[in-house]
Amino acid sequence: MTPRTGPLAGRRILAVFAHPDDESIACGATLARCADEGARVSLLCATRGEAGLRVPGSGTEDVGLGVVRRGELQQAAARLGIGDLIVLDHPDGSLTGVEPSLFRQEIVLTIRHLRPDVVITFGPDGLYWHPDHIFVHERVTEAVESFGASGPALFYVVVPHGLMTTILDTAVSNPGSPPDLSLWGIDPDAFGAYAPEPTLVLDARTHVCRKLDALRCHRTQIGEVSPFVWLTEAQAEELLGREYFVRAPVGADTPSCLEEMSRIPNP
Ligand SMILES: [Zn+2]
Repeated sequence: MTPRTGPLAGRRILAVFAHPDDESIACGATLARCADEGARVSLLCATRGEAGLRVPGSGTEDVGLGVVRRGELQQAAARLGIGDLIVLDHPDGSLTGVEPSLFRQEIVLTIRHLRPDVVITFGPDGLYWHPDHIFVHERVTEAVESFGASGPALFYVVVPHGLMTTILDTAVSNPGSPPDLSLWGIDPDAFGAYAPEPTLVLDARTHVCRKLDALRCHRTQIGEVSPFVWLTEAQAEELLGREYFVRAPVGADTPSCLEEMSRIPNP
C-alpha cells in the first residue's frame, strides 16, 4: 500500500456511529478532510439501519433494507476516503436492548486493533435525543475511558441548536423546492437542543461537496424532500462547512491531531 502523505500522515481516526448515514450527517466533511490530509480514517457502524425509512422510488423495494443500506454506506465511505468500514449487526432502533458490556467490548477490541489517535462519536444528546445514538455515546465513552491516559483522544460531535432549522428554512425558500421538505420527520429544532457548547470547530468548507456526495449515496434516506439536496453550493458551504466537536474528559489529555488540523489553513 502506498504510504499516505500530508500533515496528518501516520495518524489514525476512528468514527463510531449507530446507523448508516450518521457519519455523513454528523461529520462527513471532517472525515473527508482528515483522509485528504493523510490520516487513516476508519468507521465502526453499530447497525445496518434496517429499521430506517425507505424513500419512495429509491428502487430497492424488493431487497431487505439492511442489505441495501449496508451497500449505501460502503459507497458513502468510499466518497469520504474511509479506509476501514466495520458494520456490526446490532438491531436498528433497539440498540438499548443490546448487552452494554458486549457492545463496549466490541469497541474496545476495535480500538486495540486499529490503535486510533482520535475517536469521534455522538455527544450526550445523541444529536436529537435518539436512544440508539445515546447508547453508542455511552458505550464509546466507557470503552475509551477503560484505556486511561494511554487511550485515544475522544471527541463528541454536536450540532449547534438552530442550525438544522436554518438549513430547512433556507432550502424551503429556494426556487423549485417542494413545500414538504423534511429531516426524516424529525423536528429540526430538536437537533442540538441539549448539546453542550463545542470546544473545537473544524473548517471543512473545502470538503462540503464530498459530504453531500456521501449523503446522496444513502439513496433510501435522502430523497427529493431532503433539504440537503436543495441548498445552493454557497449555502451548503456556509451552513455545512463547519463541524462542531466537544473534547471528552476521558482518554488522552494531550493535544490531538484533530486540534492540530484545526490550525492548518483550509484554503
Ligand atoms: Zn442515526
